[in-house]
Amino acid sequence: MRLTEPEHPQDECGVFAIASISNVSTDIFYALRTLQHRGQESAGIAVYNSGIKAIKGMGLAHQALKPDDIKNLKGDLGIGHVRYSTMGSSTIENAQPIVVSTNYGDIALAHNGEIVNADRIMDELKKKGWAFITSSDSEIAVRLLANDIANTGDPVKSLKNLMSLLHGSYSMTIMIDNRVFAIRDPLGFRPLCVGRTKGGYAAASESVVFDTLGGEFIRDVDPGEIVELLPGEVRSIKTSLSKGKAHCMFEWVYIARADSCIDTKLVYEVRRRIGQRLAKEQPVEADVIVPIPDSGRSHAIGYSEASGIRYSEGLIKNRYVERTFIMPDQSERTTNVMLKLNPLKSILKDQRVVLVDDSIVRGTTIRQIVQIVRNAGAKEVHVRVGSPPIRAPCYFGIDMKTREEFAATGRTIEQIGKMITADSLGYLSVEGLVDAIGLPASDLCLGCLTEEYPLTVEGEKTRYQKKIDAWM
Ligand code: SF4
Repeated sequence: MRLTEPEHPQDECGVFAIASISNVSTDIFYALRTLQHRGQESAGIAVYNSGIKAIKGMGLAHQALKPDDIKNLKGDLGIGHVRYSTMGSSTIENAQPIVVSTNYGDIALAHNGEIVNADRIMDELKKKGWAFITSSDSEIAVRLLANDIANTGDPVKSLKNLMSLLHGSYSMTIMIDNRVFAIRDPLGFRPLCVGRTKGGYAAASESVVFDTLGGEFIRDVDPGEIVELLPGEVRSIKTSLSKGKAHCMFEWVYIARADSCIDTKLVYEVRRRIGQRLAKEQPVEADVIVPIPDSGRSHAIGYSEASGIRYSEGLIKNRYVERTFIMPDQSERTTNVMLKLNPLKSILKDQRVVLVDDSIVRGTTIRQIVQIVRNAGAKEVHVRVGSPPIRAPCYFGIDMKTREEFAATGRTIEQIGKMITADSLGYLSVEGLVDAIGLPASDLCLGCLTEEYPLTVEGEKTRYQKKIDAWM
């Protein structure tokens, strides 16, 4: 939920690409509006029309992109991007798609994810005399690609070469002159899928985009796969890069929209199952289950179903102040929770309340919410969380960077409960989460929960104890 975003892991981007028989700029705009929950700092569209033309701006898609500019952007191939930065600062220079000009033609790139070896690559390239305009890891990718195409003259070969150099998470949409591609990293950290639109084919971070466009979801892009979008088909180009999967569990817990289907699992159903499992693992005698809106709603419904305890809205969210909370700068995240949430006293007074949310990152906002509910007259306030404690940073595109920021760092569950002033606190187990998602644990990234990562990260334990080279 936007209110407690300081408490929630943030994704950094949404991407989209389309090839059609008609003008695509409006479709791209609507796709970006649909993916808005994945990034609110900037938005951009690039289309092909005898060269690549792009428009970008800061803010939500409808603020960043003016109707006249969208109307004047003509082309039947294009890509789009919404951004929340985990690498690089929040400036227009870092807004995407990034467009560069080469002898082969123009290249535009939009990226969701985080390149773990970006600093090392950038240092090496700078020593060789390369210059960079932005601080974004995505610029490294586009420059490597541009340089490689100058040598190979073959976009597909150069995309494969790029994928073999990048270490980390990336779902990217890319236009290379008049061809449109989407690529997913070899472990498939971030989601990416393809579908049909009214006039062609498209790739998007989440399947819900195809509902909005009146199209049809076809399938997830495989880890390590390149797809080329054409007006009449999706061409799949397999690579031999993928040796496993590591889908980010937070996509189902919090990041993705509940109406999206991520790697074959409908997010809403996963969240309901999480709530049901949580009720079994962390039962409590209570009168009413209250979700933290909106993030805890599906989890709370599941908890109510499995526990038989009545579900009720007990906190009403002000929907028009959310922008304050989506700025990545920490100082701008700290604000008054009361402005965002108002308790329904008639629901909470004299009740034993279970507050359900998807996750606790820092613990500061949930503490304030517990106090709001208590001040509204609740007899007891119990907190139940639809994911295990977050104990370690994310290196793959979610904005949780330092161990010090986590409520669970150096604290037992009981101590966290005391810190947030709850009568009791219960988290879902890792096993329970994996069961609720419905995929094998080996197909998921659980690094921030287990402190074992699916890729080699300096100073951290690796789940498979293999060097990245072993995955390529
Ligand atoms: S470390 Fe956590 S947040 Fe990051 S990709 Fe893995 S599961 Fe997702």
